[in-house]
Amino acid sequence: MDYFHYHDGHLHAEDIDIREIVKAWGTPCYVYSRATLERHWRAFDSALSGRRHLVCYAVKANSNLSVLHILGRLGSGFDIVSGGELERVLLAGGDPGKVVFSGVGKTADEMRIALEQGIRCFNVESYGELELLNKIAAQSGRQAPVSIRVNPDVDAGTHPYISTGLKENKFGIDIETAFDVYRDAADMPYINITGIDCHIGSQLTDSSPLSASLERLLLLVSRLEQNGISIHHIDIGGGLGIPYRPGDRMPSPEEYMHPLLELLGESSYEIIIEPGRAIAGNAGILLTNILYLKETETRNFAIVDSAMNDLLRPALYTAWHDIIPVQQSSGESAKIYDVVGPVCETGDFIGKERRLAIKPGETLAVRSAGAYGFTMSSNYNSRPRPAEILVDGNRIHEIRRRESFDEMLRLEQPIPSLD
Ligand SMILES: *Cc1c(COP(=O)(O)O)cnc(C)c1O
Repeated sequence: MDYFHYHDGHLHAEDIDIREIVKAWGTPCYVYSRATLERHWRAFDSALSGRRHLVCYAVKANSNLSVLHILGRLGSGFDIVSGGELERVLLAGGDPGKVVFSGVGKTADEMRIALEQGIRCFNVESYGELELLNKIAAQSGRQAPVSIRVNPDVDAGTHPYISTGLKENKFGIDIETAFDVYRDAADMPYINITGIDCHIGSQLTDSSPLSASLERLLLLVSRLEQNGISIHHIDIGGGLGIPYRPGDRMPSPEEYMHPLLELLGESSYEIIIEPGRAIAGNAGILLTNILYLKETETRNFAIVDSAMNDLLRPALYTAWHDIIPVQQSSGESAKIYDVVGPVCETGDFIGKERRLAIKPGETLAVRSAGAYGFTMSSNYNSRPRPAEILVDGNRIHEIRRRESFDEMLRLEQPIPSLD
């Protein structure tokens, strides 16, 4: 559930008429709803209320400082995948003691900083990483809290680009060898084993793949405990999907967690969960203006002012985002359009074959754009990145200014001279 809705035919975010935002900030422009972010985070928190737990929001979904600040105030932890994301969490006032650090390519510098900040746990994804972490921790004179990210070899049944728990994926340590890695880790003087971790993919539509992984993880955990290696927390990753299409039905966090909690039974492990998309995805929309309607023999195109550089998901994953008018019933008759951007790529589309009653100058809202929207944006085609606006009840906050041309070019320098 989210707080974007029509009122008298005009799209609103919470109490704010979207037209007001378009008028003041122009397009393309991301708009987020604070109430929606908070509602989604709390749904995860209360789904786990029966036991010790920590909801670690996956920063890469939407890393705007204000979004992190809002979630941090609720008590959220954070799942980070880079030193840059750690900087963001700290700047937003997040608690480093609630940060877990995932990712297959952590550098020595990133490890050092994370150790200095006292993060909660490193989710270690390879043997080489474990050895380097032990060495860096020794240099820093600190123990590194570690969980091994286990690759359970289950098919998450999602898009191949966002499946991460199969043997052939680059993520984690396969469950067959994880036991040996834990045994070695237990002998490393600067490694402190605290947990076990998995993350099998994104946009999961039911919990059965995750249940299957958790069963495998629990077998490994009991084998570890029999061998004197005790585990304090189980991190089950993120991945709960969101409804992108009207009528899509997804489990609620409570429904999603229920079979997992059954499996965990009376055990006292702390549960860590790393949702990203399910918190931020439907808390954001992308506003875009219609530049031209171009009708060809075979297709009608609605050419809009946002593009794959602003919202990459359709081009990258052929992802489907709902596209709705900001103003209902313009009086035009509905036609089928491909909604495309100005970027010089055939892959540059926002949506294909959409029935819309529109005319140039009107504004469309691309729904479910709060996660993996702005964070994946780029300057491709020298397009400045859009503004980000946060609506909080009847207040509007500009949480990131639209990039200017000067800012986009700031780091470039002309070469001294060419002959
Ligand atoms: C991306 C990612 C997440 C978040 O995934 P969502 O599908 O957005 O919930 C969680 N954990 C790890 C390790 C990730 O890479």
